[in-house]
Amino acid sequence: MTRATHTDPQQGSARMPCPPESSVAPPGPSLVDTAIWCAQRGWPVHPLVPGRKIPAANCSHCREKQDHEPVHCPCLQAGRWCHGFHAATTDLDRIRAWWDAQPRFGVAVSCGPANVVVLDVDAHASKHPQRDRLLPGIPIHPSIDLTGLENGFHTLALLAAYRRQPNPCHDDTTLRVETASGGMHIWYSLPADLRLRSSRGADATTALAWQVDVRANKGYVVAPFTCTSKGTYRPLGTVRDPAPLPQWLAEELIRTGHGIASSPAPSSQTIRPLIRRTGGPVDGLRRLLEDIEACAVADEGTGFTGKLNKAAFTAGGLVAAGRLSRTEAVDRLTYAAEAARPNQRVKIARIISDGLTAGALRPLHLEGRS
Ligand SMILES: [Zn+2]
Ligand SMILES: [Zn+2]
Repeated sequence: MTRATHTDPQQGSARMPCPPESSVAPPGPSLVDTAIWCAQRGWPVHPLVPGRKIPAANCSHCREKQDHEPVHCPCLQAGRWCHGFHAATTDLDRIRAWWDAQPRFGVAVSCGPANVVVLDVDAHASKHPQRDRLLPGIPIHPSIDLTGLENGFHTLALLAAYRRQPNPCHDDTTLRVETASGGMHIWYSLPADLRLRSSRGADATTALAWQVDVRANKGYVVAPFTCTSKGTYRPLGTVRDPAPLPQWLAEELIRTGHGIASSPAPSSQTIRPLIRRTGGPVDGLRRLLEDIEACAVADEGTGFTGKLNKAAFTAGGLVAAGRLSRTEAVDRLTYAAEAARPNQRVKIARIISDGLTAGALRPLHLEGRS
């Protein structure tokens, strides 16, 4: 095996490779301690090939029987580590047995059963793709200069700025881990009634942002403190627990197709009413926005101005009643209107501003009372 012995630890590299097998134990917890630490937090773990990010190999039986369903595999019942995240467990006896068998196994956390979502921000400097692939669903106007935008840190910062929210990469209230390749894992806990699917930032169908992967259901993440041949996954700061997923990120993840449909609708305690499926004045605004978006298919004669004015008026009432922030109202209205009439930005901004102001004089406090 390749042993990275050229790096001088005295140089203080933040991504010092793991010590070779023959050396004394590294400072900090051993890998089995890391696995136990995760399990005690309620995060099911499974082993990784020593020094790498891929799951430990299946047994020979499972390697040969390629087509069998992991959920029906007898190895899982028997306590073996076949099939990656399917084998993940919080059973401490099983964990000790696995790491006794191979103390240099890396540690992976299975995100779905751990009820966490991890934003995996890549730092692979590369030329960015077309504008519509940077933040799927959010149009980036040609006038915006994208010079220097080259990795996931930049796209996530752009998304946060667009939503006027704090950048998750700087969120020192939650567990953040510097990855071995200079990226970042940002961990958040999920409310019990929200399940999310995993995605890769380059996916055509489901993605949050270019170079930002989402690790959730059927996804795993390298545990903090695990070392690979490229370096150690080092937690930043002192926070070691995931904070609750911020509402705006929950909304972004659902907007970008990460919500798992079979899960119950998020409760109003965890998700603001803006994404409720049915009923209420915010739902009424959603229908108005859909009307506006529908104007995109015809050049004129659709009553676009009147529809936008009506939606802005309704949104103004919701803002005045505290049901919606003005920022969010402007964002939603602008997004829908510019999608339908991309060449009328100035006019759209004026209609929205006027409508919000007029609507604020008539707050919409309760459903059906308008
Ligand atoms: Zn097996
Ligand atoms: Zn199997």
